[in-house]
Amino acid sequence: MDIVLATGNHHKKREIAEILHGHTILVPNDLGIAFHYEETGTTYLDNSLGKGFDLYRQVLRPVLADDSGISVPALGGAPGVFSARYGSDLRNDLDDVDRYKLLLANMERIADRRAFYVCCMVLICEEYRFFVAQETMHGEIAREPAGSGGFGYDPIFYLPEFGKTVAQISPSEKHRISHRGRAGRRIEEILEAIGKRN
Ligand code: IMP
Repeated sequence: MDIVLATGNHHKKREIAEILHGHTILVPNDLGIAFHYEETGTTYLDNSLGKGFDLYRQVLRPVLADDSGISVPALGGAPGVFSARYGSDLRNDLDDVDRYKLLLANMERIADRRAFYVCCMVLICEEYRFFVAQETMHGEIAREPAGSGGFGYDPIFYLPEFGKTVAQISPSEKHRISHRGRAGRRIEEILEAIGKRN
């Protein structure tokens, strides 16, 4: 199926295209649409439904929206749904490396390093027909960054079972265990089921 992804983030597009490899994943730009959605929701579900429906009403064809982030229970769940904007209240020119350095600095004196990623995916088929999958990946915040794969917070997200950060494992290993890989496989199952029914 051709699916339009409600994102401008090329890392997420690459990962989702790899995860849903039997489908053609387009981005708004491929349809000549400049898509920007202001994420104002307080949950991943609010944001993914909001951006998904905003795009759906422009393209009137199947849309997939993904909202994701990283949470640290010892920081009260921060950065959470604000992961992409973490630290923007301090400076407005932060990049991914600045953000994970800020998280490392905020964790300096914290012994409980547990953290988890969340990914909420919404597949919108029609105005009144949509499906949601939300998944997690658990790990720890490392003491220092390692690896060059992945994106965002991956260099500081440590997986004890691998003895490596997410940025040190291969894309296929990441997809097998990640929040996005798991949510994507649930969406894949739904696509298969509705393909049979329709
Ligand atoms: P959004 O889903 O566009 O709001 O952005 C989510 C933000 O969470 C990204 O910009 C990353 O900083 C972070 N994030 C979400 N998933 C991942 C991941 O798989 N690896 C690293 N960072 C992630």
